[in-house]
Amino acid sequence: MTCATCTRTLLSAETAGGRVACFPCGMRLRAWLAELPRHLPILEASVYPERTGPRTGTRAGRSGAGTPVRTRVLSFLGPASPAGSPTAHHEDQDDAPTLRGTLGDWAAAVDAERRPARPAPPPGADIEALCGWLDRHIDWLCCTPQVTAFTTELRALVRTCRSITSVVPRRRSLPAPCPCGAFGLVEIDWSAYIECGACGRLLTGEEYDRHQAEVMPPLHRTALLLLANWNTREENAP
Ligand SMILES: [Zn+2]
Ligand SMILES: [Zn+2]
Repeated sequence: MTCATCTRTLLSAETAGGRVACFPCGMRLRAWLAELPRHLPILEASVYPERTGPRTGTRAGRSGAGTPVRTRVLSFLGPASPAGSPTAHHEDQDDAPTLRGTLGDWAAAVDAERRPARPAPPPGADIEALCGWLDRHIDWLCCTPQVTAFTTELRALVRTCRSITSVVPRRRSLPAPCPCGAFGLVEIDWSAYIECGACGRLLTGEEYDRHQAEVMPPLHRTALLLLANWNTREENAP
């Protein structure tokens, strides 16, 4: 069975838990929810640059040059929409999804279906509260068909944020190879896991540290032996 939101084949541990979306896709949703609130200071600064910019004594932030950006950001940050079903009510008058509206509608939809002990934040709640609440329901969402639409809409929000703020998570390649053998392990900002780009394996920071301590010393020894062998051949060359 293939993941509902990517091309991976689900592992038996995933299907046994009733998941329709794989662990890495759930992890990516969590990373996006952690990322969204971090864009807010820059988004808000784009709307009101004169509040946060350097104190030059001018009011450059009110010049006409920034108006299209400010209009776009204002629209994106837009007011909370009335609670309703996902994809139905979280658009502003220009049919563009709004950040708070999209998150609020998903929180309301999950709340209506799941009835958790801790109810969804009320309409108008701040972005961090909405993201934090949704984060607690990612595993449940990954077991429902709605995860596909949720992923599409969350990805769109993240792309809009990144296009306005120019802030993107950094990816760092890690030195130890993945247990699958590929040198594909990367650490990505705001993600709770280290992921292998080749096999999709997820490792926590602690698991990676243990794995690195195991595999790196033999790899270093092999590299030194190869280097010594290569130097000897160079010295003996005619
Ligand atoms: Zn997936
Ligand atoms: Zn791997």
